Amino acid sequence: MRKALVAGNWKMNGSLAANRELLSALSGAIRGSDAVAVAVCPPAVYLPEVVAQLQATAIAVGGQDCSDEKAGAFTGEIAADMLREIGCQYVIVGHSERRARQREDSAWVARKFIAAQSAGLVPILCVGEQLEDREAGRTEAVVAEQLDAVLDAAGVDAFDRAVVAYEPVWAIGTGLTASPEQAAEAHAFIRNRVAERNSQVAEALRILYGGSVKADNAAGLFALPDIDGGLIGGASLDADSFIGIVNAAAARVHK
Ligand code: PEP
Repeated sequence: MRKALVAGNWKMNGSLAANRELLSALSGAIRGSDAVAVAVCPPAVYLPEVVAQLQATAIAVGGQDCSDEKAGAFTGEIAADMLREIGCQYVIVGHSERRARQREDSAWVARKFIAAQSAGLVPILCVGEQLEDREAGRTEAVVAEQLDAVLDAAGVDAFDRAVVAYEPVWAIGTGLTASPEQAAEAHAFIRNRVAERNSQVAEALRILYGGSVKADNAAGLFALPDIDGGLIGGASLDADSFIGIVNAAAARVHK
């Protein structure tokens, strides 16, 4: 049985005052549950404050990125060990915005994934195709390349301490979501790809959906067989929306 995960990716949003307000609403409403784990991933500069505010709540904290290096002359980068030290449990790696803007390729993302796990963090590995890939029938090839790079580098057993997020790039922040068929197909493809190497690891692997998930479409997505929660961007900045999404994940039938 897989426990759902709903993780909020705040991206480059927030302020001390706005974060406090959002977190006080979330921590007042979100209780520990066997059905769903919840995390927020604020900008790195706010992590210590967010960890402090969420102490003794059911909400975990994650980073939005980590370095593939352990320490040294890497200006502006943040080591996975540092995230762990200040209280993070998760870190997003390979988000499409970083693959595009920072030109992170799959080999680099794989090194970040390994660095995250070495530090004791659970990586949330993002994979997903661009619109032109989907239109050209290349969705599975793109997702396979992103996934295989990490499977090859880290080994399939590493995926028992990881989460995968399928995020079609054309659905991120656009208001478009994958149709249930498109999402179900991509999630099944990811689980099968992992199962080719180890079926037990694949069965236990949490695969999140990300891309314009809102409180009113979450239940439909989370009901699909291979969807185990969501990576939530825009809607994670609004307390009522995020709580609605968490409730939808908690209410889904256990898989
Ligand atoms: C994301 O950036 O991971 C994301 C899913 O964003 P949004 O929910 O805003 O589409």
